[in-house]
Amino acid sequence: MSASTCLFCRIIAGEIPATKAYEDDTLVAFNDINPQAPMHVLIVPRVHVATLNDLGANHDTVVGAMVRRAAAIASERGFAASGYRTVFNCNSDAGQAVFHIHLHVLGGRTMTWPPG
Ligand code: AMP
Ligand code: ZN
Repeated sequence: MSASTCLFCRIIAGEIPATKAYEDDTLVAFNDINPQAPMHVLIVPRVHVATLNDLGANHDTVVGAMVRRAAAIASERGFAASGYRTVFNCNSDAGQAVFHIHLHVLGGRTMTWPPG
């Protein structure tokens, strides 16, 4: 999928509205439209990468920034000590629906394991 038709590229470009939680030169974080927990934020890189399988070493900095931002957002919202979950879904068996990598950050309730 090209960047021009990618849902998350369009959110990053401001063409589709989203409730943003954070943004900088590298990434954007916004509330999931169908939240699965009291906090459900998606962290997406500004660069279009379809799946985790498409990451290269050149993406290490941006992926690191995504993970550290997840921890920062969870901490800001008071979930650092109680806990939260971070999830990258990859391809169909994991239920990936949007093919622009995104880190789910969920918190505010007790999670179950194993995931469904
Ligand atoms: P995944 O199944 O890992 O690809 O997750 C895609 C996520 O994107 C789902 O949790 C959806 O609820 C979420 N989503 C889809 N469309 C939007 C949108 N327009 N704004 C915010 N989140 C969205
Ligand atoms: Zn994209």
